[in-house]
Amino acid sequence: MSKTESKVKLESCPVCQSKIDDSSPENLGKVRGNTERFKNTEFNIWKCPNCRTLLAIDPVDFDDIYSDYPLNERKLDAFAKGTFSNLLARLKKVGVKKTDYILDYGSGRGLFVEYLKQKGYMNSFSYDPYCLGFKELPISQGGFDVVINNDVLEHCEDIHKVINHNFELLKEGGVLYIGTPESDPVNIKNLEPEIMRLHQPFHRIILTEKSLHEVVLNYNVSLVASYKRSYHDTLRPFSNYRFLDELNKALGHNLDLAMDESITTRTFLLNPQLWFFAIFGYFFPSAYEPAVIVRKSISKPT
Ligand SMILES: [Zn+2]
Repeated sequence: MSKTESKVKLESCPVCQSKIDDSSPENLGKVRGNTERFKNTEFNIWKCPNCRTLLAIDPVDFDDIYSDYPLNERKLDAFAKGTFSNLLARLKKVGVKKTDYILDYGSGRGLFVEYLKQKGYMNSFSYDPYCLGFKELPISQGGFDVVINNDVLEHCEDIHKVINHNFELLKEGGVLYIGTPESDPVNIKNLEPEIMRLHQPFHRIILTEKSLHEVVLNYNVSLVASYKRSYHDTLRPFSNYRFLDELNKALGHNLDLAMDESITTRTFLLNPQLWFFAIFGYFFPSAYEPAVIVRKSISKPT
């Protein structure tokens, strides 16, 4: 993802190569952004009629849009810990160990690695080309045991290039985790309920669960685990996707406000329906975030 590349207008669907026809209105929709800066700007979304991938088709300057990205203000609070414990449980289930070399690729300010270190995973590293202080790619001699690409693919213009890079960084036999929002069942003609999932202009591509599997399994890997539900979805109070979605809706879908603890606390206290979703939101998901865990195959000696 270079700066120049991000400004190129997409010609075709990166998943199925169908040509993007922005003159046919049935596949086009508009949605506003969900940050203070972009809340009054409308962005064009195209839904691939063939594979149902959603694409943000207005070119953007990545360095510019990430220069004041509100989600980089997130803290390792009780809510974050609740969802991270779910993510770590998924990794432990496939055998990830405390001694493993772990790379969080597209880490933002490194919150998950901070959490991993608190849990004793001391060889954990963060990398994010658009986050100050994390732009330098960590090196692990012989490759990483684990690469995590969580909530990242949807931010990328060229998903194949990013997945290739993930596999280059991974050692043979190592595991790659990829989790990303799902494009189904978004109705392109009614995008208002999807503002959080579409997260404009930051989300560039949203796959279906099926496409995620197809894209990743195209590499020389074996599938170790797969999930349909978001790692945000736990039974712990407050740690579920629906609650986040409803809270953001109550805040007018402005993530800058969502980063302010006094505003979110007041909004929560004034909206009794949020209390319901804080406790029971797991059972009423408003969107899914599929994930796959794959193991890089060991090449046969020649
Ligand atoms: Zn397509």
